[in-house]
Amino acid sequence: MHPITEDHRPVALTGDRPTGPLHLGHYVGTLKNRLAFQRTHRLYILIADNQGLTDHASDPDRIRRNIFEVAFDYFAVGIDPAETTICLQSALPALSELTLLYLNYVTVARLERNPTIKDEIQSRGFGRDIPAGFLCYPVAQAADITGVKATVVPVGEDQAPLIEQTNEIVRRLCRQAGREVLPEAKALVPRVGRLPGVDGLAKMSKSRGNAIQLSASRDEIKQAVRRMYTDPDHLSVSDAGRVEGNVVFQYLDAFDDDTETVDDLKRRYRQGGLGDAIVKARLESVLESLIGPIRERRAEIARRPADVRDIVASGTARARTITEATLEEVREALGLYRLA
Ligand code: ATP
Ligand code: MG
Repeated sequence: MHPITEDHRPVALTGDRPTGPLHLGHYVGTLKNRLAFQRTHRLYILIADNQGLTDHASDPDRIRRNIFEVAFDYFAVGIDPAETTICLQSALPALSELTLLYLNYVTVARLERNPTIKDEIQSRGFGRDIPAGFLCYPVAQAADITGVKATVVPVGEDQAPLIEQTNEIVRRLCRQAGREVLPEAKALVPRVGRLPGVDGLAKMSKSRGNAIQLSASRDEIKQAVRRMYTDPDHLSVSDAGRVEGNVVFQYLDAFDDDTETVDDLKRRYRQGGLGDAIVKARLESVLESLIGPIRERRAEIARRPADVRDIVASGTARARTITEATLEEVREALGLYRLA
């Protein structure tokens, strides 16, 4: 463990909403980067339960149940609690207070223009009944990131506009304070920044029910791959097939390290004579070799829920000290009154 006072590594923060267990999109979009960063950065992972409520207000039980499911996933993929601080958003009240302050440094019109929010409003079918908490969650995210003064945010592509929003708030606040009380942050989006769902829709997501979970059984992987969207015009094996927009090939690009074989499969598919079944069988085995070991480690960890709870509690305690200090600094920089 790196003692906080002597740890000069750059600070990184990222997180997940406990709306369901984590999936392959998380793996390529952010978990792989977290694994790479946990030694080189002081990494915080926030389980964003308050944010989960912003579109699950009528199902709080789902958020409660999934907090530890998400934590199990972290350890199953190899997040090391000796290096990484895992913390729970709702147990960090300084973040809520920072959110309340930041809300004054952003306009409703700006929040409504955010492309990620626009897309999510549409996919959740809110229509005109957008929960205010949902519209404002980018502000809460700004509080999460700045609360630990993170300068690096390893996230999927969908999050990039939200980091931009955070930096806008930071700039406005610093201008108001007349000094750089908070640092700006940089989104770190990997090569596969956005994994499509098994249905071919733009993004694999817990809320859209188009995900393959990191805890999926061998059979669940098989079923998901079997119903994967390919090329609707590729009716018989001898037909030439389309690789672009074909989810099976998109997944092979994301998960199969043997690019030569994948390129060869693409060539044969385009030419005609290669059936979907063969490409799908390859993907199934690639996914099983990734998920199999994760599934096994997860089953072991899930037998020790009390240990996982303790890890989250001690990470949260550490984050509480830091976020409270940030809140004090921000209030002071703005010259706000403090009732002693
Ligand atoms: P929900 O549908 O409830 O919003 P989600 O599947 O979008 O869930 P989040 O908890 O919102 O997951 O996202 C956590 C992190 O995982 C973010 O950094 C996000 O960019 C990344 N991520 C989620 N889905 C994908 C995906 N399909 N491809 C790449 N990254 C993803
Ligand atoms: Mg999401």
